[in-house]
Amino acid sequence: MIPPASSNATATAQGRGRSRVRAKAMLALVALALLAFFLALPEPGDERVAPPAEGFVVRDVRVFDGEQLLPRATVVVRAGRIAAVRADPTTASTDDAAGLPVIDGMGLTLLPGLIDAHVHVWGNALAETLNFGVTTVLDMFSEPVAAQNLRRTRDALSPRAHADLFSAGYLATAPGGHGTQFGLPVPTLTTPAEAPAWVDARLAEGSDYIKIVYEPRDANGLGPPFPSIDRDTLAALVQATQARGRLAVVHVSRRAPALDVAAAAADGLVHVPGDRVRDDGLARQLRERGVFVTPTLSVLASLAGRGPDGTPTEGERLAADPAVRPFLTPDQRQGLGRSFGSRVSAFQFEAALATVAELHAAGVELMAGSDAPNPGTAHGASLHHELELLVRAGLTPTEALRAATTTPARRFGLSDRGRIATGQRADLLLVRGDPTADITATRQIERVWKNGAPVQRQRYPEAS
Ligand SMILES: [Zn+2]
Repeated sequence: MIPPASSNATATAQGRGRSRVRAKAMLALVALALLAFFLALPEPGDERVAPPAEGFVVRDVRVFDGEQLLPRATVVVRAGRIAAVRADPTTASTDDAAGLPVIDGMGLTLLPGLIDAHVHVWGNALAETLNFGVTTVLDMFSEPVAAQNLRRTRDALSPRAHADLFSAGYLATAPGGHGTQFGLPVPTLTTPAEAPAWVDARLAEGSDYIKIVYEPRDANGLGPPFPSIDRDTLAALVQATQARGRLAVVHVSRRAPALDVAAAAADGLVHVPGDRVRDDGLARQLRERGVFVTPTLSVLASLAGRGPDGTPTEGERLAADPAVRPFLTPDQRQGLGRSFGSRVSAFQFEAALATVAELHAAGVELMAGSDAPNPGTAHGASLHHELELLVRAGLTPTEALRAATTTPARRFGLSDRGRIATGQRADLLLVRGDPTADITATRQIERVWKNGAPVQRQRYPEAS
């Protein structure tokens, strides 16, 4: 979730005020949805006892293995894991594939199940996510109890009807700060001295990593209209988190606070700044400190809203895609039709695209994250949109695919996923065409497997 309009030299104070009112109304809507659905996550059910699926073979298939394209390969799956990957199908033995059903992969591409590195999970989110071949999500703030339940079965290889969840739980923010407006009982803090105990409490609740909101006002008093923790508290939270062997990731929306995050050597930024590119050394400092960035262009596009000439929003465009639309729930279709709709933010979206290009050119590691289910986004579907937007910002399709597979897996320590390699969890996505040539081919989904078991994709007919 990102805040409403922040400082922008081209905006009038009036414009900022109007967009804030609209954004507040939108936040109220989101808050209602949160309260209604927070406790409705899927139950772990029988996963503890269900055996893994037996296996299958995909032959003569293009494989994006998480790093590069193998033009023609055979992949063997057994008991929920990848048993073999043969890049040259003519030379290797087929003993390990004996007795397994064979899928002809001619014309298709097999990819690792995708990872969405920025979501908020409640309600039916994890099933909606898996419906689009996104097999793992990194939640960046939600109520911790549901994640605790799912964590008990997360490592199992049994078939399941939902994506795997890794979660920050509650976020670190100041009293009245961003994240407190949704009605959840977020434990807040104001001083560096409180940081170690705050981090310990989250880890005791089961948080996989720590998410921090850092939105201080600038020297002119400009910035979001809510309080933030200060720089010393940010540094203390990062230090306490890393001292306990966990990742500290930070929500920012502007460059100046992002420079503080680089100085604090946090592990990642979970939005890209939306103010203009300038020569402040940000990209170089992020690169030197090894700070990754999850731009969340999908939600920044939603902030921009509809073009002045009435062109559809990015969310509306995604919802109209015939490869996407039949698999969206009615609620998801509605969500993609919503936007924050602030005129100020059209500039921010263009600036965000330019900043992604700047960071990419400097060698900063980027991750694909949608920030679903904010207005203008939908779980699962918007990750495919995010890949398209990363390519629009200048990544090659292969680089964008790494941002949704190997990069998040490596940086978040998820060693069993994100690649197609022997021993990896068999979370797989089979699509028509070649997404390393045309990134929108990731939406042409032929099959999805979670833990080696086929996923029955759900269609949602339109009301007539
Ligand atoms: Zn978010």
